[in-house]
Amino acid sequence: MGIFRKIGNALARFMYGRNGADHLGLFTVWTAIALDIVNMFVKNDLAYGIIGTVSGVLVFWALFRMFSKNLAKRRAENAKFLQKVWWPIKGKFHRMKDKDHKYFTCPTCRTVCRVPRGKGKIVITCPKCRGRIEGKS
Ligand SMILES: [Zn+2]
Repeated sequence: MGIFRKIGNALARFMYGRNGADHLGLFTVWTAIALDIVNMFVKNDLAYGIIGTVSGVLVFWALFRMFSKNLAKRRAENAKFLQKVWWPIKGKFHRMKDKDHKYFTCPTCRTVCRVPRGKGKIVITCPKCRGRIEGKS
C-alpha cells in the first residue's frame, strides 16, 4: 500500500463519526480568508488586531466543528445557517439574475411571489395567506 493511500485511510478513519466540512464550515473558512485578505490593506494597528483575532476565532471554530463528534448539534447549526443565511442569499442572487420574472414579497407573511415581467399593473393573490399584493411587473 502506498504512503498516500495509507495517509488517506488514516484520515478517513480519523474523520469517521465526525462532522467534517459542511456549508457552515466552508462559509466560516471563506469568511476568515476574506478577513485575512482585507487585513493586508489595513493600516490601523487596532483594527488589524481585531480583524486578525476574529479571523483566528473563525478558523478555530470551523476546525472545532469539523472534528466535532456531536453530529446532532452540528447538523442543527448547519440547518439553521442554511435557512437563515445561505438560502436567502442564494435566492437573492438568483432573483438578481432572473430577467424574465419580477419578485414580490407579500407584506403580510413575507412570502415571495414570482410573476412574469412586462404585464403592466397587476394584482397578485398571495398563495399562502390570500392577501393582495399590487405592483407593476
Ligand atoms: Zn402572504
